[in-house]
Amino acid sequence: MKVILLQLPLQGHDFFFSHENIPLAAAYLQVIASHRGVDAELLPNHLMSYGSDQAILQFLLDAQPDLVGISCYEWNVERSLSLANQLKALLPSCTIVLGGPEITPDNDFLLRYRDFDIGVVGEGEEVWKILLQSFPDRPQSPGLLLPGKNGQWHFTGYLPPRTSLDDIPSPFLSGVLNSHLKGVLWLETVRGCVYRCAYCYYHKQSPRLRTFPFERIFKEVKRAKDRGIEEIVFLDPCFSRRPRLDDLLDGLADINHDRRLRLSGESNVESIDSRMAEKMNRAGFSQLEVGLQSVKRKTLRNIHRSFQPRRFLEGVRSLQNAGIEVRVDLIAGLPGDRLSDICRSLDWVLDHDAYDTLMLYPLSLLPSTELRQQAEKWGLVAMPHPPYLVTRTPDLTAAEMVQAFHHYEESMEEDIAPLEKPPALNPSLKAFSLPGGLSFSVDWHHPEGIGSLSHGNPTAYAFTVSISKEVLRETKRWFQVLQDYLEKNPFTLLSVEVPPDISPEDLQPLWQLAEKYSHPMDRDYTVTHSLFRSFLVFSRSQGLLWKWPDPRESFPLVLPDGQEVPCRPVCLVATSEKTIPSWFLDHIRQRYPSPPEIKRWEPPED
Ligand code: SF4
Repeated sequence: MKVILLQLPLQGHDFFFSHENIPLAAAYLQVIASHRGVDAELLPNHLMSYGSDQAILQFLLDAQPDLVGISCYEWNVERSLSLANQLKALLPSCTIVLGGPEITPDNDFLLRYRDFDIGVVGEGEEVWKILLQSFPDRPQSPGLLLPGKNGQWHFTGYLPPRTSLDDIPSPFLSGVLNSHLKGVLWLETVRGCVYRCAYCYYHKQSPRLRTFPFERIFKEVKRAKDRGIEEIVFLDPCFSRRPRLDDLLDGLADINHDRRLRLSGESNVESIDSRMAEKMNRAGFSQLEVGLQSVKRKTLRNIHRSFQPRRFLEGVRSLQNAGIEVRVDLIAGLPGDRLSDICRSLDWVLDHDAYDTLMLYPLSLLPSTELRQQAEKWGLVAMPHPPYLVTRTPDLTAAEMVQAFHHYEESMEEDIAPLEKPPALNPSLKAFSLPGGLSFSVDWHHPEGIGSLSHGNPTAYAFTVSISKEVLRETKRWFQVLQDYLEKNPFTLLSVEVPPDISPEDLQPLWQLAEKYSHPMDRDYTVTHSLFRSFLVFSRSQGLLWKWPDPRESFPLVLPDGQEVPCRPVCLVATSEKTIPSWFLDHIRQRYPSPPEIKRWEPPED
């Protein structure tokens, strides 16, 4: 029996999140399978985290696995289902098992698909053992979605999570994650959460707090340090509420006495005083993420959270005084919050200077969460597909939601969702390469040079094509090549570089192509510019790099619930100068009868 496990990354043109795609859940299953003598492997990291749809598919077809297991989250579930669909068509003998928080018995979006064989609901390790034991038969154990009658999925009922974590092997100590770690280790020291936030699924699948043994945790941290890992991110849902926190911090401080490891995690701050903050500092903590979500009491009651302003501020100050940065998160679209309430929450944090980093996220109605199950009661309307963004509440329209993000940007004087710069267009990354030699760019200087995008190498999921003016005007020669590529690799993020002196008419065929191929990345209507981010057209000249305005943004964006969000075409300009030079403003004005908005663009820093 041959098993391959994988977790597809959060995608971006600069591959930033690929570097952090650590398939922890898949790794637990790999170790369990190997201990049972099963030939199980993780998909090689360069393909899993950077590969195009076809590159991944080809590897799987060559390997001929009997079972493929895929971890599904809201950022990768559609791509995972697309991969499952293609694999099922070409290798029907392969059993496809999906797991992760997207796999729930009431996720209507998921249940429409028939391209997988088994869904694992909740914590996977116990069910996985049962699956391996009964393979190729499908067990009737609880914790599974199985094909039922009349093409419906049949849920076999919840399997309670295991009570002890003691005998779950460590994927990190076993070495299975070695090639997936690039300086950062994600570590669980507990599972389960003491809180019951209404927008969260985690506590529902893992309500009781259970801890991994200290001996194992300290071995993992020591090994990370010895192997040159620079940062450990604790995945524990509320770090300060874990049992025996003092003992854990003392042990971490002993191992990390030279503070070579940077530690970060997530917690509430109300329970952190100066003594605890100092201990965290000694252990090596450099950052703590704090979910404040809203400062309005009624809203917080609706989502089962609390907020004590004085203790919150004391906790933040204690951490900051101990040299630990505080990252505060707020959510827009919670039941009970109007636009003015969201702005008030932002202003409260800013006025009290109670943050080092501040983020605002749109609410997602994630599968099986209380808010999703009670959406009707609260009058919440959300996208029927990932990322399940709320588009209307009784107190907020989609347009007001966008205004909340504008308020963030005006208050913080920064772009909340900056567009990434493709590495092929980034002169400071001259020697950029991807693991496994994956191809991520091609130059088409002459019409006769137009050919396959891959040059024989497997391609990455984000790709840049540089086209000369001569080639651009020979539409017939390149259009079909790009179209074929996008057909086969529907989850591609494509950027096209064109000469700076083209006219907008020259770009029409590119925009036609863009219109035909949408991507889940284009759904975040709260982005205050460049709503269509999966297909971008750039030019470079005189030290500037700019994104041409997308004509799709000349029309309001129509959301699944029928609301229209106003848009305007934006030309984003990256420049090292403080202002955009006048030659460029003239350059754009000459080309557009009604010029687009021209905005300075500061791509995210790695
Ligand atoms: S959001 Fe975090 S603190 Fe709240 S229930 Fe979920 S895991 Fe716990």
